[in-house]
Amino acid sequence: VPELPEVETVRSRLAPDLEGRTIVRARIDDPRLVRPEPPEAIAAMLEGLRIERVERRGKYLLLRFDDGGTLAIHLRMTGNVLRRVAGAEPPKALRAELELDDGSLVAYTDLRRFGTWELFRDDETVADFLAQRLGPEPFSDGFSPAFLYGAVHRRQSPLKAVLLDQRVVAGLGNIYADESLWAAKIHPELPASRLRRPDAERLHGTIREALAAGIAAQGASIRDYRMPDGGHGSAQERFAAYGRTGLPCPRCGTPIRRLVVGQRGTHICPHCQRTPRGRKPPPVDRLP
Ligand SMILES: [Zn+2]
Repeated sequence: VPELPEVETVRSRLAPDLEGRTIVRARIDDPRLVRPEPPEAIAAMLEGLRIERVERRGKYLLLRFDDGGTLAIHLRMTGNVLRRVAGAEPPKALRAELELDDGSLVAYTDLRRFGTWELFRDDETVADFLAQRLGPEPFSDGFSPAFLYGAVHRRQSPLKAVLLDQRVVAGLGNIYADESLWAAKIHPELPASRLRRPDAERLHGTIREALAAGIAAQGASIRDYRMPDGGHGSAQERFAAYGRTGLPCPRCGTPIRRLVVGQRGTHICPHCQRTPRGRKPPPVDRLP
């Protein structure tokens, strides 16, 4: 599932090829991608638009157009944006495609079809849309230790569930939340209200570090995520906790355990990340 590092990698790879190009032809094959709008209408509106900038906000990839409009693409579970040359065999699960004025193609594939394309006609509506859904970017000044502490300390839910709220920190998802909590030695089921200020400070640092490491490794290609050229990211090779059930904790050697927190598979070191006092240890979710 693409999170900030994966979407940022897609953005940085696409930007040099797409910025300044005009969409000469658009095709949207899957009505789910743009519903409730009719796919033909959105495709017709995209044709003729010049892409000024390729940006990212949280997990949204944003194509900013010369007419002030923006296409906000969310990859959700299995979406991918791939570059291909005309005449090459179409990729699997192709849902939409843009042809640019240099003859190149931008393909959107999505096996599970949860991804969305939303077209906004002006800056104000897209800014409102994003502001309602997203808190500060993790590398912005707005995401400070004090902001993180303030955003979580009134909430009773398990800390990990609160961290996945995109209004707390935009772009953090299941994978990098596990890595951040492991690095900060904090149990994901700690009630958010019990996070102490020094722990919030440490966690603020480990969230930035986990996301920065993910970007440096060009994202994690665990299942479906690919770079626009089809290449794989390598972030998964450096994970300490995520997806490492039964393997030794890199810090202490204790086997990593898998739990379910807020319905999400969660990976912890039971030695480094102590069960919060006053709570029974969570049941271990058995793998098939
Ligand atoms: Zn450990």
